[in-house]
Amino acid sequence: MTETENILTDTFGREHTYLRISLTERCNLRCTYCMPAGGIPLSPKSHIMTYEEIFTIAKEFVSHGVTKIRLTGGEPLVRKDVGLILEKLASLNVELAITTNGVIVDTFIEQFKRIGLQKINVSLDSLDNEKNTTITRRDYFTKVYNNIQLLVKEGFEVKVNCVLIKGFNENEIVDFIELTKTQPLQIRFIEFMPFDGNKWNLDKLVSLEEVLKEVCSHYDVKQFTRLKDAPNDTAKNYKIKDYKGSFAVISSVTNPFCDSCNRIRLTANGQLKNCLFSSSESDLLTPLREGKSIAPVIQKAILAKKKVRNGMETLEQFKDPDSHNNRSMIAIGG
Ligand code: SAM
Ligand code: SF4
Repeated sequence: MTETENILTDTFGREHTYLRISLTERCNLRCTYCMPAGGIPLSPKSHIMTYEEIFTIAKEFVSHGVTKIRLTGGEPLVRKDVGLILEKLASLNVELAITTNGVIVDTFIEQFKRIGLQKINVSLDSLDNEKNTTITRRDYFTKVYNNIQLLVKEGFEVKVNCVLIKGFNENEIVDFIELTKTQPLQIRFIEFMPFDGNKWNLDKLVSLEEVLKEVCSHYDVKQFTRLKDAPNDTAKNYKIKDYKGSFAVISSVTNPFCDSCNRIRLTANGQLKNCLFSSSESDLLTPLREGKSIAPVIQKAILAKKKVRNGMETLEQFKDPDSHNNRSMIAIGG
């Protein structure tokens, strides 16, 4: 490897400038689509990256061209030293963002403001208290809903992640969009994806096409427009005329966005995943702890990245459970 070689560019010319770091495998919710009812076997504490290790690895990525870091999990905000991690990462020259379930996000507002963290994605799958309790297996709807309002009021750029599941919440698509009438929110409908233990099957999926059909049946065609997607955007973005906010669909299953993928994921136990659907991982933590350079491991992982969804190019392949043998989402970091 030469000094000038870009180790974050893969064999398809995609530059990986966006690192998603999972801070923990733990969570204060138990969403059915994310983890099995019985929980997941947690990594021993000694296998979880310390805040110094997270910082060292992040610094290495930034030195090779990463410009954006998103913290995720598990629930990133339940990690005890998350405040320290935020401070350390904010000292790097990157855009910092976070994905949270919103349960305790109100207690971080001052820190987010101080370190300049502006972009917050909050997960909320139903606007109905009981349904929310069913999907998260915990009773925090009011807290999360109020925290979303608070974040908007405090001037953060808030996106609401809503995983759509057939027969469960697709009848709330319009209700979610109506939230954008008076609030500058972006609602992101996410196609349900298969992970270990989440009882996925294609029949439970609400596709991009179905979302648009529902939107068209409620709003006049002249009322809604497709927005220009940002470079590397995973979402297809739309807006209802004169509404303050917008909505989007993340169609990883029916319309993958792999061509412009710039993401790479680091799990809480220090494993690099070159694709959300990849069943293999590259260990960064062991060489780091042995004092070795991690750059060659990163480069190898990037070069091994497949063109589309870890090689699952068709929906048929996707339907085959053996082809998406992966950790639970909670242990990957969505
Ligand atoms: N705990 C945080 C949260 O819920 O926002 C961050 C971690 S969570 C794993 C990140 C995102 O992954 C959430 O928006 C969640 O809805 C999404 N997610 C989890 N399992 C999913 C699945 N099977 N299909 C689609 N999205 C999923
Ligand atoms: Fe926890 Fe987020 Fe997974 Fe729900 S989606 S169980 S909040 S990590």
